[in-house]
Amino acid sequence: MAETMHCYRHPRRETKVSCATCGRPICTECMRQTDVGIKCPDDARLPRGARAGAMKTGQIARTILAGAAVAIVGVPVVYALFQIGFFTLILSAAVGYGAGTLVHRAGGRNGGPPAMAVSGIAVTIAFAPLLTQQFLAGGPFPFIRLVAAIIAIGFAVYNSR
Ligand SMILES: [Zn+2]
Ligand SMILES: [Zn+2]
Repeated sequence: MAETMHCYRHPRRETKVSCATCGRPICTECMRQTDVGIKCPDDARLPRGARAGAMKTGQIARTILAGAAVAIVGVPVVYALFQIGFFTLILSAAVGYGAGTLVHRAGGRNGGPPAMAVSGIAVTIAFAPLLTQQFLAGGPFPFIRLVAAIIAIGFAVYNSR
């Protein structure tokens, strides 16, 4: 007779089923049917890139948090970027790429319109103070800064899709 296992979440319940990812025994109430077999709730919640789908509340919250972090950290990063004075467009692309990746990962790699919106808004906020300052200062508007912002936003949105 097979060894009797007990659900890791309900130690008093016997079961013959175990999680396809971590191998922990799970009872019928806890098991989650996924595209790649039966899983425990922990692993079903984190599909490890195997399944793209709608974000859950926690993932949306993390996506927004990541977006806020991008916006806050982004402001000095953007200032530093234009202090360097060269490779600005390439660096802007890299910054946008990084921001998009961060937001995408925060959302459990589900991506989609919410992550894209958060990325786009976050990077826009990061560039906003510099562009606004420039605009208020008057004089000829440095077109390259606008182009850099658009490139960064584009990469961020594209990379969190
Ligand atoms: Zn598991
Ligand atoms: Zn259980």
